[in-house]
Order: sequence, then C-alpha cells, then structure tokens
Amino acid sequence: NIFTRNMSLDASKLEIIKTTTPKAKLPNDQLVFGKTFTDHMLEIEWTSEKGWGKPVISPYHNLSMDPSTCVLHYAFELFEGMKAYRDSEDKIRLFRPDKNMERMNKSAARIALPTFDGEELIKLIDQLVLLDQDFVPKGAGYSLYLRPTLIGTTASLGVGIPDRALLFVIASPVGSYYGKTFKPVALEATDYAVRAWPGGSGNRKLGANYAPCVQPQIEAASRGYQQNLWLFGKEGYVTEVGTMNAFFVFKTSDGKKELVTAPLDGTILEGVTRDSILELCRERLSSDEWTISERPFTIHEVQEKAEKGELIEAFGAGTAAVVSPIDRIGWRGKDIAVPAGNGDAGELTKTLAEWIRQIQYGEKQFKNWSRE
Ligand code: PMP
Repeated sequence: NIFTRNMSLDASKLEIIKTTTPKAKLPNDQLVFGKTFTDHMLEIEWTSEKGWGKPVISPYHNLSMDPSTCVLHYAFELFEGMKAYRDSEDKIRLFRPDKNMERMNKSAARIALPTFDGEELIKLIDQLVLLDQDFVPKGAGYSLYLRPTLIGTTASLGVGIPDRALLFVIASPVGSYYGKTFKPVALEATDYAVRAWPGGSGNRKLGANYAPCVQPQIEAASRGYQQNLWLFGKEGYVTEVGTMNAFFVFKTSDGKKELVTAPLDGTILEGVTRDSILELCRERLSSDEWTISERPFTIHEVQEKAEKGELIEAFGAGTAAVVSPIDRIGWRGKDIAVPAGNGDAGELTKTLAEWIRQIQYGEKQFKNWSRE
C-alpha cells in the first residue's frame, strides 16, 4: 500500500475531550434508527504527507468544510454499520468488529482513500463506546449502532487521489427492529434498474451505491413492496436486498434441504451476517439433512421451486434486523408466495435469529465473535 510509508493509525495517541453538556437518554420505546446520537464522536485526520494523525474523541459536533471538498462532488465516502450490545451482566460487546474493519479497508482501497490497521480502530471504537456506555440500551434487539465513516477532504474540484481524509465514528442507540414477533417483508424483484455488476463497486460499502437505490425503492413501495430484490443480467440472477443479503431454502430431489445464497462474485456486499449464517449452518446443521450453497441462482429457479412446492422459506440477513423473513416476491406483475412467511418466520429463520442473538448478547460463546 502506497500510504503505509507514513504514520500508521495508533490508538495509544488518543486524546479525549469530554462533553460538559451530557444529553438526556431516551427510553427504549422512543429510539428511532439513526436519529439521535451519543455525547461523543471519534475523529482521525489523515494527510498524504503525515499519514494518520492523533485520534480525538470529543463532543458530537458539526463538520465544517470548504464547498469544493472532494467528498461533496465525487463521492469519496465509505462507511460501516456495526453494533455494540449490552449483555445480561451489563458488559458491552461488539460482534465480529474485525470483519467490519476488513470490509472498510477494502472499501477505502476501492476509492483511493487511505487504509489503516483495523485492530487500532477497534481499540478506539472501544474507547468511544466505553465513554458513551450509558447510551447502550438494554434488552433483546436493542443496541448501539456504530457508524465508522471515511471521507476524502481535499478541497479541490480536480478529480484525483485525495491527499486529505477524515475518519470519524458516530453512534446511535437503536431499538428492536421488530416487537416480539417477526415482521415479514415483501420484495419486488427488480431488473429495470441494476444495483451492482461484475467489475463495478457494488460489493463495497460506498455511499455512492445507496442513493441510486432509493428511487427504485419508492417505485416498489408504490406497488406495495417494502424493498427491492436486486436481479442481475438477462438470466435474472438473484443478488441481494436493499441492505440485506438474501437466503432461500429449497427442497432438493434427494429429500434434503438446500440453503442457498448468492456467491461473492462482485455483485453483492460481503455481509458480516451472511458470513456468520453460513459458518453457523456449516457447523451446526446436519449434512445428512442440509446442503449449504453459495451459488448463482435465478428468479426463474425461485419461481419454479415455489410452483412445485419446493420453496420452504426465504429471508434477508443484515446487521439491522439479523434476519427478516420474506413472505412474497413480486415478479413481472405476479407474486411468488413464500410459504413460511405467514405473519411469522420459517423454522431456519427463527433458529438463526436465536443463534446469532445468543452470541451477540454474550449468552453463548462462538469463536471469539463477541468481543467484550
Ligand atoms: N447488503 C447491503 C447492500 C448492505 O448495505 C448491508 C448492510 N451492511 C448488507 C447487505 C448486510 O451486511 P451486514 O450483515 O454486514 O450488515
């Protein structure tokens, strides 16, 4: 990496400036995703001459920048989404933060922003979460959503490699995605707009990938669907949902069940939840009963399997809701019904939600995935 000749990110240099005007904490039932933030934020500046500067945690504040700053014109921006969970002993836990750091560095490399040592950023995030720990809500489904963000801050309209950047982290207490029961989602299979393509950048967590997906979502909503199921190519390959990876359970001809999700071929985001589900299923589901597949599959296959009664359940997977049951998929004016949706969730969907919740909230240990 051309940037590593400079100062690397060093958590031990952290300076903390505490707020003198702490905010009131909202009760759990008033938490709205991404609307309120904790008392503090973390910032680290980077320049091409000096590398990563001194990390600073200070009171949550506005950013100020020159109107020509490159992030505002050419979308030099990437982000992560991860959560801190409060366990039954009031310890705070992060779920697989190393995976987020790995993905964040891949996003940075894709748009010529500087990379960094992920373990150092985790140490800094730990400090931010500890300082703002009173904002981490208690209860299943509740958590502190963390938003690490990296922007290019060069003040120039020239399209080129940014020589200045700012990495910052903000945190928002968030509520349970569902109440006590699952809320299934209806998806519209979308082929008139394309989210990602081989060789593109749809597999990276760039802000620029998200804005163009809102208009198709509005169109889907006008027809009664909450999210788009993004298809790719004339074959109609199923890729992923708005902010979730997509999983289907099929009956196979040998009497087994197949859990299927799209492969990491550049057309989907490398979801941490996706990876966790695959690993848990490979470890815990009996191979006499199950086949776990990362393979290309099409909307036609889904439709065909549904017609033959071989579609058992379907769900989306992501940090926000862990798993969201899918109850129908609109495709060319008709609905593909997903049987296990009926107001609840399928067997595997429920099992996975519980397996992951137990690890996130520290009730069960699995491979150091939950870090105190
Ligand atoms: N796909 C997209 C496009 C997303 O934005 C997200 C959310 N980060 C996901 C999938 C799920 O990823 P994760 O499990 O890491 O939250």
